[in-house]
Amino acid sequence: MGVASPVGLTPGGCAASHAAMRSRLLQRNLRVDPPLALTGQGMFIHDSNGRAVIDGSGGAAVACLGHGHPRVLEAMRAQMDRLSYAHTALYSCEPAEQLADLVLEGEPGGLTHLYLCSSGSEGVEAALKLARQYFVEIGQPNRRKFIARRQSYHGNTLGALAAGGNMMRRAIYQPILSDAFHHVSPCYAYRDRRDDESDAQYVARLAAELEAEFQTLGPDTVAAFIAEPVVGATLGCVAALPGYFQAVRAICDRHGALLILDEVMSGMGRTGTMHAWEQEGVPPDIQVVAKGLGGGYQPIGGIMIGGRIIEALRDGSGGFMHGHTYQAHPIASAAALAVQQVIREEGLLDNVRAMGALLEQRLTERLGNHRHVGDIRGRGLFWCAEFVADRASKAVFDPALKLNERIKREAYERGLACYPMAGTIDGKRGDHVILSPPYIATAADIEAIVARFGDAVDAAIASLPPGG
Ligand code: PLP
Repeated sequence: MGVASPVGLTPGGCAASHAAMRSRLLQRNLRVDPPLALTGQGMFIHDSNGRAVIDGSGGAAVACLGHGHPRVLEAMRAQMDRLSYAHTALYSCEPAEQLADLVLEGEPGGLTHLYLCSSGSEGVEAALKLARQYFVEIGQPNRRKFIARRQSYHGNTLGALAAGGNMMRRAIYQPILSDAFHHVSPCYAYRDRRDDESDAQYVARLAAELEAEFQTLGPDTVAAFIAEPVVGATLGCVAALPGYFQAVRAICDRHGALLILDEVMSGMGRTGTMHAWEQEGVPPDIQVVAKGLGGGYQPIGGIMIGGRIIEALRDGSGGFMHGHTYQAHPIASAAALAVQQVIREEGLLDNVRAMGALLEQRLTERLGNHRHVGDIRGRGLFWCAEFVADRASKAVFDPALKLNERIKREAYERGLACYPMAGTIDGKRGDHVILSPPYIATAADIEAIVARFGDAVDAAIASLPPGG
């Protein structure tokens, strides 16, 4: 706290000129040097602007235990003293084995094995490749296509990007993306359910669209359907309507395709149940997890795999034709093991549900009637506000105004970190902001987050040019 700004950084992280910039690290934005995050404690990050910022989004829905949790730090130190690395061609390691046992213990969906990698994108790549290998192993090598959803995000590596439907992220890479991926509509009732449709009719329409896509592609050429149970980084906390995932599961089963659920953002407790799909009652064949698995203490992701896929590999070639140098890394596994132990032993899912209900209530009170807030939605401690220029027409703001970035900056000025999204709405950039605090948040934290967020929204909108 109270640390002086290094040369070249100005309050709010905006460099005065290119000449003043000093970072040789390739940042997200080459025109702005961000402040340095110096220390983290509990809900707060202390930075080089001398600010203590409440981490209202846990980074990008990552820091589920907040920062500096002593038990996780101790587990990492202890593992470092024992063993930092051993290659998986020869060895397994204790923390990875224990982590697999813990996350699969009492697992309600019949998922029997865990593969560990280093990020969400790696997890998605592994899921796609495993689905493909499964069908080769069982004698259906013609299954090479995947169906995903528009307005979804599955990661930035080429396979994951091809699966995702976020047009802005895909645009410049489109010519080098695989043609094995095909997209249907997401379940996005706020914008896509017609006024004359009931929820059930809308779900039936989406199911018919998916069925038609299977027929167009040839049902026996489709390996898997992949979706986020609660859409994160493209639309902001959009859960499906009741019955949607049951309909999806039935279609996949009818055509012998696998269901891959990407819970990188929404999983490991974020939505109030350990797995987001539990609230749909529909287990996947392969589930991708990452952010909440290690809580940001180490880069770690993974896939949980259903028994029939493991059996097919065991009876067939004998192994997964895939792997990475750092898979099942001992220190990353030790960190994730401690994170998962803390979540379970401290009953943090109860807190996610209780604080999530408070967050919903306070957000609705503060912004529910705001003329530029079109929708407030979410589950557990995973909430989003979608901003509109006009509530009646749901028209988006001029994308050049970058309202969501303005909200992020105004929130930071008030000591709050939130997570802005630029989802694509009718081909245009929308304005969404996610609040996804750590599972350790108290009622006072939630009150502070919503108070600062509400003021930031008002200030950002007031900063728009007249008529904006
Ligand atoms: N899948 C989903 C649903 C995500 O939200 C993300 C990241 O936000 C990813 C995959 C990619 O994860 P990573 O950034 O760790 O590669």
